[in-house]
Amino acid sequence: MQERLDGKLAIVTGAGQGIGKAVALRLAREGADVVVADVNTQNADQTAEEIRSLDARAFSCSVDVSRLSEIQSMVDRAAAQFGQIDILVNAAGVAQTGLFVDLTERQWDRVIDTNLKGTTFCVQAVGRRMINQMPEQARAEGRANGSNGKIVNFSSISGRRGRAEQVAYAASKAAIISVTQSAALAFAPYNINVNAVCPGVVPTAMWEKIDRDRGRIAGLAAGQSMRMFIERTALKRPGTVEDMAGVVAFLCSPDSDYMTGQTLNVDGGFEMT
Ligand code: NAD
Repeated sequence: MQERLDGKLAIVTGAGQGIGKAVALRLAREGADVVVADVNTQNADQTAEEIRSLDARAFSCSVDVSRLSEIQSMVDRAAAQFGQIDILVNAAGVAQTGLFVDLTERQWDRVIDTNLKGTTFCVQAVGRRMINQMPEQARAEGRANGSNGKIVNFSSISGRRGRAEQVAYAASKAAIISVTQSAALAFAPYNINVNAVCPGVVPTAMWEKIDRDRGRIAGLAAGQSMRMFIERTALKRPGTVEDMAGVVAFLCSPDSDYMTGQTLNVDGGFEMT
């Protein structure tokens, strides 16, 4: 059977675990070859191995997305290995939870450099490549039917409003919504789609740490912070990594060719309440 992403090459950052890993597996199941990019090389190798066991092509790529030189070498390696790059999913991210009055410059830089700078320059490096790999005539003509590339960024419900205990994280995720719109405008003449998603609460290693840190600040028992978020979620359950991967796969597929610059809440209705 023909799959939606047959013959496509996808780079997924943060694919060593959690949501990024689920996205990488889902894109592979939909027919894509996948570059599994993560700063945690062992986890990236493991994800790539799981994808290859599905009979899809994958290779793991060690990258720290906060470093521009490493981003460029990731893109060069992906192109050398597989040729054309069709999809980029920026799932790599870090969170930091603590009181505003205690925030340090080091904490700020780590979160902003990974989430905001990393996402922005991955979009730039891959967007540039997507333009350069287009046949000259298509580049000159610009808009054709279909898409010349799909880029999906991970924002967060924490990017929709301020968070007293996640100043840098919320700022980075709010800015990713802006970068998504700017990139969508910049790349629209080349028919490259750029969209973003805002997950709600998805139990991963990241949320486990948030729960511990929020618990420490507010004197809550383990799991209580997460339960409070879930209670506020209209659908009254946490999201799964597969819930996120399904929406990302849609945004990487021809089914979303007429969408760009959009940020979708994938949050079980959390932001509505
Ligand atoms: P996670 O911590 O489980 O996974 C994040 C991955 O990113 C890890 O594999 C980590 O090694 C990688 N990474 C971190 N820094 C990196 C760097 N500098 N270079 C390359 N890779 C790096 O987190 P997750 O919950 O799977 O989150 C995935 C994305 O979804 C993140 O951008 C996160 O902010 C966003 N998000 C998650 C939730 C949630 O509830 N889990 C909610 C909203 C948004």
